[in-house]
Amino acid sequence: MKIERILPFARTLLTNAVAQGDVAIDATAGNGHDTLFLANLVGDTGHVYGFDIQPQAIQATQQRLTEHHVENRVTLIQESHSNINLLPRSIKRRVTGAVFNLGYLPGGDKDIVTTSETTISAIEQLLDLLAPEGVIVLVIYHGHEQGKQERDDLLTYVQNLDQKDVHVLQYRFMNQQNNPPFIIAIEKR
Ligand code: SAM
Repeated sequence: MKIERILPFARTLLTNAVAQGDVAIDATAGNGHDTLFLANLVGDTGHVYGFDIQPQAIQATQQRLTEHHVENRVTLIQESHSNINLLPRSIKRRVTGAVFNLGYLPGGDKDIVTTSETTISAIEQLLDLLAPEGVIVLVIYHGHEQGKQERDDLLTYVQNLDQKDVHVLQYRFMNQQNNPPFIIAIEKR
C-alpha cells in the first residue's frame, strides 16, 4: 500500500517536526513505544517529558527506555496530562512535538481511558508551550464507548481553533470498517 497507514503517518509528522536537541512530550506514555520514538528523535542533547496516570504504564515505559539506554533523555511523570503546566516554564515555546495515543493501555485495564476533558485541557496548555511549527499529533481510537464521546468533543474543539493560530489536519481512511483509528494533527503557526 502506497498511502501511509495511520501509525507510520503519525511518526512521519513527528519526525518532520522534532530535531536533535528539541523538547518533546508524550502525553500518554502507555507501554512507551512513542516515548522511545521521541527520545530517539531528540537525541542526547534534547529532552522528552512523558505523562501517564497509571503506575503500570510508567514502569513499562521506564523499562523500555532503559533497555534502549535512553532513560537519561526522558522525565516520566505519573500525573494526568492536564497537569502539563507543572513542567518548567523554561520549555515555553521550545516544544516541537507532542503525541497523544488515546484510549486504554493495551494489555491493561480497559476502563481506564483518556477523556475529552483532560485531553482538551492538555492541548490548550501545549499550544502555549509549542514552538512555531511545533506539532501535536493525536491518534484517536473510537471503537470503545467512551472513545466516541472523546472523538466528537475533540473534533468540535479542533474545528473551532482559529486558523490564524494553527493548521489542523484530519488523516483518516474513510472506507475501513470497525472504527479504525485516525489522526488529528495541529501545527502552531
Ligand atoms: N502510546 C502508548 C504506547 O506507545 O504504548 C499507548 C498509550 S495508551 C493507548 C493510552 C494511555 O493513556 C494509557 O496508558 C492510560 O493510562 C493513559 N491515560 C489515560 N488518561 C490519562 C491522562 N489523563 N493523562 C495521562 N495519561 C492518561
